Amino acid sequence: MSYFTLSHLSKSYQTQTVLQDFSLQLEKGEMIAIVGESGSGKSTLLRIAAGLMTQSSGEVLLDGKKIENPAEKLVPGYDEIKLIHQDYQLFPNSTVEENILRPLLLFDPAYRKKQLDRLLRQFGLEAYRERLPRQLSGGQQQKVAIAQALAVEPEVLLLDEPFSHLDAIQKRKLLQELKELLQEMGTTVIFVTHELDDALRLTDSVLILQKGKLIQKGNSQSLCEHPKTRYVARLFSVINPLPGEDQTYIRPSDVKLRTKGGLLGHVVDQRFLVHYNSLFIRLKDSGLLWEVDDPQRRFSSGDRVYLHWDEERVLRLKS
Ligand code: ADP
Ligand code: MG
Repeated sequence: MSYFTLSHLSKSYQTQTVLQDFSLQLEKGEMIAIVGESGSGKSTLLRIAAGLMTQSSGEVLLDGKKIENPAEKLVPGYDEIKLIHQDYQLFPNSTVEENILRPLLLFDPAYRKKQLDRLLRQFGLEAYRERLPRQLSGGQQQKVAIAQALAVEPEVLLLDEPFSHLDAIQKRKLLQELKELLQEMGTTVIFVTHELDDALRLTDSVLILQKGKLIQKGNSQSLCEHPKTRYVARLFSVINPLPGEDQTYIRPSDVKLRTKGGLLGHVVDQRFLVHYNSLFIRLKDSGLLWEVDDPQRRFSSGDRVYLHWDEERVLRLKS
């Protein structure tokens, strides 16, 4: 019997089914990410998991106990399960310290002080305890929100794209800090995002959600090398369709460039990226436009190139 169980969850609004027979089991302290495009049902899933929305069918169990939904429970939600979303609001006229303490108002003073000091230290917010939210960066505000959610020591933390409005550098740093912190605290975590890259920074274990259905589960390597569908493959990179073949593709990083022998094309554009040049190549016979990585930065617009690849790198995908 696992610790946190989502069992055969489905949800429909009027005629639209947004979650279909979704099941997931987590052990205590386990962290997983769910990746899916916008509208794939991620927020719906987390709200049901937190007991904040009533499912059409299925059930949620925490440590063997049924999580009641708003139709069954007078005050929806649970202290044991915290949901943080992007628009999570701090109290604007309360300091960092007051915001973190807010969920602990009814606890005894010694415990409140202990929790506050621990969270300020763990989140590196000690120097900011007297500040108001508007005097903090976006990343720091998000840390305060998470510290507030963790103040009551929830068993389960559900993160609904809470980092979407941070810039890439802030986000990477926060994800790394959070990973260490949550591991140390032994919190069970589900992180949903439309950015595969963010998911892989927090955890290696990823589920792919499409139109409310779980379509593949695995670690980053297995998903990248053996995607079942085009949708999964494209979360990792662009994929180039092979001319004259159905549902077969090659990634830009798996195409090799030569000056003779192979599929002929012309470079129509190039972009200088950090680790390689990204080339746009018009294939001669088929007219297809491919994206190809040029790690040696050998080619530029107007060049003739010949393309080839290892057969084992070809992806055969369902649509
Ligand atoms: P995600 O978080 O992955 O973007 P959501 O769970 O928010 O997806 O939404 C999934 C689908 O459910 C979307 O097509 C959305 O339009 C629809 N939906 C969400 N909330 C409601 C609602 N209250 N009434 C009707 N449809 C909704
Ligand atoms: Mg959402």
